[in-house]
Amino acid sequence: MTGPTSAHHPLGATHPLALAPVTGPASSVDGFVRQFLRNLNYERGVPLSGSSDNDRYFAFAMTVRDYLMARWLEDQRRQYELQAKSVVYLSAEYLLGPQLDNNLLASGLTDIATEAMAACGIDINDLRTQEIEPGLGNGGLGRLAACFIDSLATMSVPNTGYGIRYEYGIFRQTFVDGQQVEQPDSWLELGSPWEFPHPEASRTIPFGGHTEKYIDDDGAERTRWVPAWNVQAVPFNYMVPGYLNGRVNTLRLWSAKATNSFDLRVFNSGDYEEAVRAQTFAENISKVLYPEDSTPQGKELRLQQQYFFVAASIGDFLDNMLSDGFDLSALPDRVIFQLNDTHPVIGVPELMRVLVDERGLEWDAAWQITQKCFAYTCHTLLPEALEVWSVDLLGRLLPRHLEIIYRINDEFLAAVRERFGDDEMRIRNMSIIAEFPERSVRMAYLATVAGSKVNGVAELHSQLLRDKVLPDFNEFYPGKFTNVTNGVTPRRFLRLANPGLSALISAAIGTGWVTDLDRLRELETYAEDPVFRAAFAEVKASNKRRLGDVLRVRDGMEISDGHMLDVMVKRLHEYKRQMLKLLHVVTQYESIVSGRVAASDVQPRTVIFGAKAAPGYVMAKRIIHLINAVGSVVNADPRVEGRLKVLFPPNYNVTLAERLIPAADLSEQISLAGKEASGTGNMKFALNGALTIGTDDGANVEIRQLVGDDNFFLFGMSEPEVEDLWARGYKPAEFYQNDDNLRHAIDLIASGAFSGGDRSVFEPIVSNLLYDDRFMVLADYSSYVAAQERVDAAYADQDAWTHAAILNVARCGFFSSDRAIRDYIDRIWHTPPTR
Ligand SMILES: *Cc1c(COP(=O)(O)O)cnc(C)c1O
Repeated sequence: MTGPTSAHHPLGATHPLALAPVTGPASSVDGFVRQFLRNLNYERGVPLSGSSDNDRYFAFAMTVRDYLMARWLEDQRRQYELQAKSVVYLSAEYLLGPQLDNNLLASGLTDIATEAMAACGIDINDLRTQEIEPGLGNGGLGRLAACFIDSLATMSVPNTGYGIRYEYGIFRQTFVDGQQVEQPDSWLELGSPWEFPHPEASRTIPFGGHTEKYIDDDGAERTRWVPAWNVQAVPFNYMVPGYLNGRVNTLRLWSAKATNSFDLRVFNSGDYEEAVRAQTFAENISKVLYPEDSTPQGKELRLQQQYFFVAASIGDFLDNMLSDGFDLSALPDRVIFQLNDTHPVIGVPELMRVLVDERGLEWDAAWQITQKCFAYTCHTLLPEALEVWSVDLLGRLLPRHLEIIYRINDEFLAAVRERFGDDEMRIRNMSIIAEFPERSVRMAYLATVAGSKVNGVAELHSQLLRDKVLPDFNEFYPGKFTNVTNGVTPRRFLRLANPGLSALISAAIGTGWVTDLDRLRELETYAEDPVFRAAFAEVKASNKRRLGDVLRVRDGMEISDGHMLDVMVKRLHEYKRQMLKLLHVVTQYESIVSGRVAASDVQPRTVIFGAKAAPGYVMAKRIIHLINAVGSVVNADPRVEGRLKVLFPPNYNVTLAERLIPAADLSEQISLAGKEASGTGNMKFALNGALTIGTDDGANVEIRQLVGDDNFFLFGMSEPEVEDLWARGYKPAEFYQNDDNLRHAIDLIASGAFSGGDRSVFEPIVSNLLYDDRFMVLADYSSYVAAQERVDAAYADQDAWTHAAILNVARCGFFSSDRAIRDYIDRIWHTPPTR
C-alpha cells in the first residue's frame, strides 16, 4: 500500500467528488443486479445473453468485491493514519480455499446475491462451480495462515499477510492404474477476479554478487552489497474481509518479473534468445509452489523464493507503511513480523542489512530493534523438516546476508561462552552454523536467536520443543519459549462447510458462536434432548447424502446407506501412518475372506482416504498405490457383501475438505506420538461432530482433554513410551511374529493379493514395515485394532454415538483460530484491535 489512497489525497482532489468517500452499490437485490450487469457489460464487455459461465462468475465476484471496496480503502487509509502496531504475517504458503462463499458470508450478501442471480435467470451454484481454489499451500501450515488472516480481520487487528503468488499452486492429483500422477495446477489460466495487481508498486530484489567495504561521510567503515542480478517483485492485493464487521484487511502476494522485459545490452548485442532466457529465469521464482510437505529439499530456487518474498515484504512495509520521518528505533512498537516456520527466516538478516547498510544504524542498535520485531512459529518435530541452507549456496546467492548471519552467530556464541564457559560440545550444538555433513545455516536456530518469542503449535509440541529439540536454547533464553495451540476458522469450517449443523446450532443458542466459539458450550444441555439429537443425526445423514452427490459427480463413487464414514484426509506421510489405517482395512477384509468373521457381523463402513504425496517421496506414492489396490480388490469382492468399502477420491483440497469433514462419523488422527506438531484437520472434524480415534499426539491431547475420554477413542503408545521402546531397541518383526491378525494382514499384502499375484510391487512396503518401521506402525497395531472394535461397538448404539458427537461440538470451541489469535496477541504480539 502506498500510503493514503488517491481519493483521500489532497493533490488528487481536482473535482469535489474525488474527496467524497467511496460508496458501494445499494444493499438490495436491485442494487446487486444493477452492479452485476454493469460489471458484465463494462468489465467483461459482454451482454447477459451472450455471456459465458466464466464471464458471469467474474462479474459476480466483481460485484461482491464492489460491496467490500469502500471498507477496504477506508481500512488502508486508517491503518496508515493510525500508525498502530501491525501484525505482518510472513508465510511462504496460503492454502486459501474458495473465496466466493467466504466473501459473500463476510459481507452478509449471501441472500441478496442468491436472489439477484435468480432474478437474472442464473443459478448461483453454477457460478460456484466456476471457481478454482487458489492452492497456494501444501497442507496444514498453509491452511493455518489462511485461517489466521481470517481471524485477524474478524477481530479487527491491523494485519497484512505477505506471501508468494505462485503461478502454479499445489499440483492436481489424478490416479492412473491406482498410482498418483501430478498435473500442473493452472489456477490462473482464466484469471482470478479476486486479485488487484499493482505493477507500479513493484520492488527490485537483488541477488548474487559480492560485498564491499567503504568509508562513509562520517569516516565510519560500512559495507555495501553489489548484487549480480535483480528481479522485479510485483504485488497483487487480495481482500481479507472480517466476518460481518466491515473490516477488510489485505493479503499481498508477490509475483516475479524480469527487471526489464529485455535486457537492452544483451538485446543490442543481438542475442535475442539470451535476453528472453534471462526473463524466464527471473520469472521462474514465483512459477511453482514446492510440493514438499515437511521435507525441504534445499533447492536453490526455493531459497530464491524465500528471499524474494521476504525482502519485498519487509521493504514494502518499511517504505510504504511508516509515516514520514519515522524513528526506526520505535519500529518494535509499530510492527511484529511473525515467521510462519523457517521459510521466511532470511528476513532476520535482511532487516539487519536494511537497518545497518541502507538506513545507517549502528549494528547494536539495529540488533536491538530486530530482536524485538520478529517472532517465530515452529511447526515440526521431525529432524528432517528443520530447514538448513548450505553456506556455499547462501553465500553465492546472498553474500551480505551470510556475513550478517556469521556476525549474529559470533556474538551469540560469545554470550553462550560467557554464560556456560568453554563447553565446546554445547557451543557446537547451539551454533547457528552446522559443520556436518556440510557447513550450513540452521534456520530454526537463527529464528530462535533473533525471535522475541518462539512458539510451538500445541501443548505437547511446545513442551517437546523446549525439552527435546532446543533445550540448550530454552536454558539460555528463559521465557522465550511459549505455546499457542493452533485453531481453525469457524466461519469456513463450520458456518460455511456445514450449513445444516450451523442452522441447528443457531436455532438452539443463537448466532453468536460464529465469532465466539466458546458459546458452543451451551449445546451441552441439548445433548440430553432426544429431539435435538434426532435433528443432529438428520443433519449428519444429510451431509452424507450431499457428499455422496459430490463424489458421484466428481469421481463416479458411491456411498452406501447405513455405513459409518471413517475418514482419513491429510498429506500422505509415513509419520501420519496411513499404513496403520490400511492394515486395519486389510485385517477386516482378511477376517471376512478367511471365514473367521461372517460378513453379516461386520459393522458396515466406508473408509475414505484423501492425500497427496510429494512427487519425489517414493514410499508415500507406493502407499497411495497400495490403498487404491486394496480398494479395488475389497470393493469388488462379493464375499464382503458391500459391508466394507474403501474410497480414495483424488486431489484432496480445501474444496473437498469442506464436503468431506461435515459428513464424517469417525476422524482418523493416528500419527506416532511425538511426531505431529498439532494437526488442524483433527479440530475441523471434532467441531463438525465426528468422533476421533487418535493417539496422544499434537492437539489430539487437548481435544481428548476437552471432549472427555468417553467421547474419544484413544489408542497407542504415549510419547514417553515411544522413546522407551526406541531405547530398548525396536524390532518390528517381533510384533509381526507375535500377532496373528497382523501377520495375516501383512502376509496377504506380501502374497500379491492386491497386485494381481505380483509379489514384487508392494514388497518394499512390507520389508520397510518388518525391518525398519521408523514410525512404529506395527507396535501400535494391536492397540489400534482394539480401539476400532470399541468404535464398532459404540456405533451400534446410534443415539449414544450422536450424544458423544454433540459433546464433541459443544466442547471444541477452544479450537477457533480466534482463540489462537487472542493467544498470539496476549503472549507474543501485544497488538490491540483498532476498532
Ligand atoms: C486442514 C487441512 C489440512 C491439514 O490436515 P492435518 O490432518 O492437520 O494434517 C491439509 N489439507 C487441507 C486441504 C486442509 O483443509
